[in-house]
Amino acid sequence: MKPNQLISLMIATLLLAACEPSTPTDTPADTPADTPAGTPASAASTAPVTAVVELPVRYSVIELSDLDSPPKLTALCESENQLLRQHMASLESYAGKVTVDGYYKSLDSLVTSLGNLTAYAQSLSGIHPDPQLRTAGENCAQLLAKIGTDLGLSRPIYEAVSQLDISNEAPATQRSVEKTLLAYRLSGVDKDEATRQRIRELNNELVSVGQTFDRNIRDDVRTLVLDSVADLAGLPQDYIDARPPGEDGKIRITTQYPDLLPFVTYAESDALRKELLTLNLNRAYPQNKEVLEQLLAGRFELARLIGFNNYAELVTADKMVGSPQRVSSFLEELKGYTSEVNDRDYNILLERLRQDQPDAERVEAWQAAYITEKVQNEKFQVDSKKTREFFNYNNTRDGILTMVQDLFQVQIRPWQTETWHADVESYELLDGERVLGRFYLDMHPREGKYQHAAMFPFTNGIEGVQLPLAALVCNFPAGTGLMQHSEVITFLHEFGHLVHWMFAGHQPWSNVSGIATEWDFVEAPSQMLQEWVWDYPTISRFAKASDGQVIPEELLNKMIAARDFGLGMATRRQLSLAALSLNLYNQDPATIDPDELTQRMSREFTHFEAIPGTHFYANFGHLNDYSAIYYTYQWSLAIATDMFTRFKDQGLRNVEVAGAYRDIVLGSGGTRPAAELVTEFLGRDISFKPYADRLSGKQ
Ligand SMILES: [Zn+2]
Repeated sequence: MKPNQLISLMIATLLLAACEPSTPTDTPADTPADTPAGTPASAASTAPVTAVVELPVRYSVIELSDLDSPPKLTALCESENQLLRQHMASLESYAGKVTVDGYYKSLDSLVTSLGNLTAYAQSLSGIHPDPQLRTAGENCAQLLAKIGTDLGLSRPIYEAVSQLDISNEAPATQRSVEKTLLAYRLSGVDKDEATRQRIRELNNELVSVGQTFDRNIRDDVRTLVLDSVADLAGLPQDYIDARPPGEDGKIRITTQYPDLLPFVTYAESDALRKELLTLNLNRAYPQNKEVLEQLLAGRFELARLIGFNNYAELVTADKMVGSPQRVSSFLEELKGYTSEVNDRDYNILLERLRQDQPDAERVEAWQAAYITEKVQNEKFQVDSKKTREFFNYNNTRDGILTMVQDLFQVQIRPWQTETWHADVESYELLDGERVLGRFYLDMHPREGKYQHAAMFPFTNGIEGVQLPLAALVCNFPAGTGLMQHSEVITFLHEFGHLVHWMFAGHQPWSNVSGIATEWDFVEAPSQMLQEWVWDYPTISRFAKASDGQVIPEELLNKMIAARDFGLGMATRRQLSLAALSLNLYNQDPATIDPDELTQRMSREFTHFEAIPGTHFYANFGHLNDYSAIYYTYQWSLAIATDMFTRFKDQGLRNVEVAGAYRDIVLGSGGTRPAAELVTEFLGRDISFKPYADRLSGKQ
């Protein structure tokens, strides 16, 4: 959900903190290719100025009720587009003295207003139940992205910002201006007009291509049709009960997570697991093959025009890693740390498989989850069907809300407001009497909705201007439906993004407020919060079976013992995805065969072969929004593991440590480099050793 490099750099609001903790797998659907690639607006530089120009400071205020029908959304988008264009024109033609309080504030209010409606439009395009409204949202995001592109390529604005004297400004302001100038340089603002024109065209095209890629995944849900309940052998009874045969006597299992995950974990039939996984890995294929090729080609050309060798260089230039080479070496380092445990655990799986299939030569991708479950069950006495019984959705939600309140010393209370669907709940988060931010929980699957788990931004908080607002979008069972333990982890993960969004959204400028930190740090707060799911005092407060029995401590201890089994293999899987993402973008795409590359990365990093006849890249949604930088999950996890050492030493429920973490690491937003924040919190330099020890089994 990054319309383009520039806008993402300038507008923190657009950051969709996408996030599954583990395997991405999405599926989309298809829809008509929308968007005529509009002519690049040149509302920009206009007439010479003769009189003193008043620079506008205008922050748009968007409400869901302004966008509750496609015509209303479109009308608002058009009128807002005009206002934003006028605002930009006045900045471009301004000839007076350039100051932080005058010019820069006006620019920031423009960026904020642009971000506000863009975030609403993009978010609703992924979650609104009305397909026409989703399309209207996409179109609106595209229209606004053009402003972002033009803004990023505006020489007059760039030159004005370059003139600002920030030597006596507060550090947050200095950093904001420096980030803006860097974003400008990475957008190609210093190129000649013909080049900038081509960059504009490409940016606009790429928004549309990326949306098509996402939509194809989102809209494509596939279904496995089973002849009888016998085909569900191995699955938990509540799963079977919830999926009765249709009138034709057939049972339908879709590629949506609540159907898919238990099926590939428990179904006894090897053939049916393979069939369902194959359906899942072919979502959006073949249509997305061509779309991906367009995406790669367009981004490659864009990077070359801006002066980089490839898109991976461009997109890592403002990250903690700094270059694709560093990404590569990082992936290799992690490969090294996981060598032994990856082989060891795979061999355990193979040995176990041979008890059922004596002539098995290797473990196949569709057997991995199933056999892993068996090993965990037999070797560690952890039966995830049993553990599910302690995690019904309602209790889990309440437990997580309570945990966050206790840990960060805040209050969460229901917020009465309208939403886009009856399933959606709304809350506000307070520190004492002060409302810090608001959020929605949109937690259950429905047709046409984004199929993974992510935080969707609505409003980036800016101190004194607007409160942070975001939605957690997940696909969990509803009510007293039972969640897999891994889903509880996902829930906490997303909540980690949300608290970051809430606590960080109180800085003075849009590009340093909210999750406006380096992108490869973004997944650190979310991945760290996952750790609390292993803390007995925390989970015993909400993990209760339907008869009221609290999860036994002994069971959690067994789960902890079982937790690291398979960690090496899971990490290698993540590395293969990161390498796929990097290698699609660090070379001339004309020479790439995505099928071959997918297969090769799987072999290079894992013991598993890609399932023949599948095309995972077609539904690997991160290839659009994360492009080359899927490595960020592992990079952030290495830092999260390091940050967590302080909690481990001083207590997971230590409110002083949590307070320091909240104020320094989260609350600072993007006003300082992430490495500096973590160093201050830990009282020492960042170290990857804790993660290396964890991966290599040394703990
Ligand atoms: Zn995440």
